Parts: sequence; C-alpha cells; structure tokens
Amino acid sequence: MAVASDLRSQLLRLVPDERRVNDGDSVLDQHAGDLSYHAPHRPDVVVFPESTDEVAAVLAFADEQGVPVVPFGAGTSLEGHVIPLHGGISLDLTRMNAIVALRPEDLTVTVQPGVTRSQLEAAAGPHGLFFPVDPGADATLGGMAATNASGTTTVRYGGMRAHVLALEVVLADGRIVRAGTRAVKTSAGYSLTNLFVGSEGTLGVITELTLRLHPIPEHVVVARAAFPSVEAACRAAAGIIGVGVPVLRCELLDATTIGALNAFSGTAFPESPYLFVEFGGSEAGIAGDLETTRELAEDEGASAFESESDPTARAQMWSARHSALMASLALAPGSRAMTTDVAVPVSELAAAIEHARRALDESGLRGGIVGHVGDGNFHVAFLLDPDDAASIEQAEGLNTRVVEDALARGGTCTGEHGIGYGKLAYLEREHGDLVPLMRGIKDLFDPNGIMNPGKVIPPL
Ligand SMILES: Cc1cc2nc3c(=O)[nH]c(=O)nc-3n(C[C@H](O)[C@H](O)[C@H](O)COP(=O)(O)OP(=O)(O)OC[C@H]3O[C@@H](n4cnc5c(N)ncnc54)[C@H](O)[C@@H]3O)c2cc1C
Repeated sequence: MAVASDLRSQLLRLVPDERRVNDGDSVLDQHAGDLSYHAPHRPDVVVFPESTDEVAAVLAFADEQGVPVVPFGAGTSLEGHVIPLHGGISLDLTRMNAIVALRPEDLTVTVQPGVTRSQLEAAAGPHGLFFPVDPGADATLGGMAATNASGTTTVRYGGMRAHVLALEVVLADGRIVRAGTRAVKTSAGYSLTNLFVGSEGTLGVITELTLRLHPIPEHVVVARAAFPSVEAACRAAAGIIGVGVPVLRCELLDATTIGALNAFSGTAFPESPYLFVEFGGSEAGIAGDLETTRELAEDEGASAFESESDPTARAQMWSARHSALMASLALAPGSRAMTTDVAVPVSELAAAIEHARRALDESGLRGGIVGHVGDGNFHVAFLLDPDDAASIEQAEGLNTRVVEDALARGGTCTGEHGIGYGKLAYLEREHGDLVPLMRGIKDLFDPNGIMNPGKVIPPL
C-alpha cells in the first residue's frame, strides 16, 4: 500500500534499522489481534524502539502527521486493547527489556516496559524477593501497568496500582515526563502515576517503571478442596476472607474447567468445583490458617481437602490453574473466548456466580467459570465461533446480564482486564457521569487523538 510504504520510509529516518520498522505480513498479523473473539485488524507498520528517545521521536512524528499509535507489550490483553482499529503504527516495546536497577535495600526495582513478569521473577529471586502481581500470562510490566493488571495474589498484595511507585512516560507529542518518585509514599499533587496506570496506551507510552518488591515468604503451603457446588465454594471463600485468614491466593475453578484441565494438563482431579488456597509465613502460623480453612470448607460440604508444601507440586498446581483459559478453548477447537471480568463485594460473590451460572446454563453456550474469589472477581469464558455473528450476539447478551447483575450488587464490569473496546458500553453503564471527565482528560493528554484510538473512552 502506498501510504504504508511511505510511512515506513519516514519512520526509518527516525529508527534507522530495517528489522525494527517492519511491515512484513507475519509481523503485521502478530500485531493485528489478540486471543479474544474481537476481529483482528492490521497496523500499517510495526516499530520496535530500543530507547525512550526513539519512542519520543516516533510519537512526535505520528502526532504531527495524525498517525494512530498503539503500544504493544506481550499482546495478552483480552478486550481488543492492542488491535489497531484504524491502522497506523503498532509500537512494540519488547526490545526495551532491561532491568535498570534492582535495590534490595529499598525493596524496589526499576525496569524498562518490555521486561516480562517471569524475567523480573528470575532477577529478584536470588535476592530473596519477588514481584507478586501475576496475571497468569507472561505479560510485560509495561502492559501490566497500562491495564492495571492483577491476578491470583492480589487478595494479599494488591494489583499493579499498589506496586507502581514511579513512571517515565512519553506523551502523545513526544514530551518525556516522570510521575512519582522512588519514595514509597507521596502527597505531591494529583497522582498522575495512578492515572497512567490503567490508561491502556491512550494517554502516553510508559518507557520506565519503578516497582515495589516483597520478601519471598519463609514457608508456603497450598490447599485444595472439592465442593458440592460453586456457590458452596464461594461461601467458603467469603468465610475464609471474612475471618481474616491471610491467604496468598484463593482461586475458584468450576467443574467444567476442572474437566477441561484434566484433558489439557493431564491432571486427575475429580470433576467438581474446587478452591485452591495458598498460605505463606511461619510454619506455626500456616498450620493454624490451614486448620481454620479446613473447618470453614467442611462447613460448606468440602471433601478431598489436601495440602501440599513441595515447591514442584505447588508450581504444577498453579500452572494448571493458569492454563484454565487455554484448556477451555481446547474444549471446542477453533473457538474463541468472550471473557466476563466482573468483580463484586466478596459478600455478594456466591449470589453473583449463581446468577452467572444460571444464565450460562440457560443460554446453551459452553463455558467455564474461574475466579480470583478472594477479591470477588470471576470470569465466565463463553466459547464461541468468531465467524458466527449469532453466537457473538448471544454471548454479548449473556455478558450484559452478568455485568448488570454485578453493577446492581455494587460491583464493577472489569476487575482487572480493562475496557479495551470490548467493554466500552459497560464503562458507560458503570460510570456514565464520569465519562465526559475522562474524555476531557484524554483530550488534554492527546489532543490529536493518536494514542490507541477507539479504546477506553466510549464514542460520542
Ligand atoms: C491466559 C490469560 C490469562 C489472563 N489472566 C489475567 C489475570 O489473571 N489478571 C489480569 O489482570 N489479566 C489477565 N489476562 C490479561 C493480560 O494478561 C493482562 O491484561 C496483561 O496485563 C497484559 O499485558 P501485555 O504485556 O500482554 O500487554 P498488551 O496486551 O500488549 O497491551 C495491553 C494494553 O496496554 C497498552 N500498553 C502495552 N504496553 C504499554 C506501554 N509500555 N505503555 C503504554 N501502554 C502500553 C496496550 O496499548 C494495550 O492497550 C490474562 C490473559 C490471558 C491470555
């Protein structure tokens, strides 16, 4: 395409490396879509910057020319976040993957945005430290900050917002700004750090992050128990959280997901709903936590209560949990998933999941339910044929029912995945009064609308 080849030659003046300004078919396809049901759309060109200055040069050029720019980390987001709806530049940050400074004495680390969660784990581990935010997919820290990701350990440590101390950000016009500091607290004006976290590439490009680390707990034990129903498992989870057991993780998997995992990962769990619960601390403390958890679980009819401290067995269990989405997709080869992501107050969880499960059963669609139930967040993955408009429409109707129920219970349409463009209508439902303010913020940071257009802010 003439426009694209002209764009590429202009970008090559700013990033003078043929391999890093790429419009080959396979690279365009890799940056056109995500794992979800959203239809892919190619960018015109993919740029792989290696420094903040290169990012700044590309943005200044794109802003002047009105070319859309979509930041790209690992591409694991699930709501069409990285899909270049209007073409333009996909800005792939994975080559900016240096650990800039690790400071065990401060429990902090400064990284470039393309560093992955597992890369940080490998760097922090030898210092007895770890970074707890774990979305399951091996995402980049830039992408995780941009989506305010969280995951299995959020119930204990919090999500990305609780961990980002400072950011370097390149604004749409190429200006480089720094938000936050290396201090663990600040009251200096409006928190733009917290604004950039969760902004999904619509306000600027994160080029450096300073993050909190935590000591690896002395002992870790994981327990699992089978329940007669998902509602019973949720009531047990609410009880465990309610009495203040300091769990590291508390995860629900329904019977469909357990069956899918057995087939996908070779596990042999009885096919019923399960809670996986992890504890950390001293041996004596964990023994007490385990006993309380067992009692609360058995009060809800739990059976097969087992605990495991061997690190390999624990890792295998969490690896099985993290395969849940892939295992569900394998139930219907060629299918794609529409994933709900509501979060409700933990006291409302059992009723919200019961409502979602009933809606799923009535619809005839296939799908499993998993949840970070310790923080009231659960996912229903509806499996659908991405080429069949009727099945997408049916899943959307179901998604809307689940979201409206969660909002009525005082919850949110997205606990962790973000808005992308799949949840634009739900943002309007949840925060219709705030959307005009959000639009004003977007216009202030990105007056020409080049940063990831079509995402987060519902159209007028
Ligand atoms: C199997 C599976 C399980 C998952 N489980 C969870 C979960 O438990 N919790 C959870 O929170 N998420 C989960 N996700 C979603 C996903 O992993 C997270 O949203 C993750 O944070 C995305 O990171 P990424 O590096 O892949 O970002 P990408 O998908 O590449 O990008 C995400 C968004 O951030 C923007 N972006 C990326 N990098 C930058 C940057 N440097 N500066 C500015 N903007 C940027 C992009 O434009 C896009 O809008 C899961 C996904 C999968 C596939």
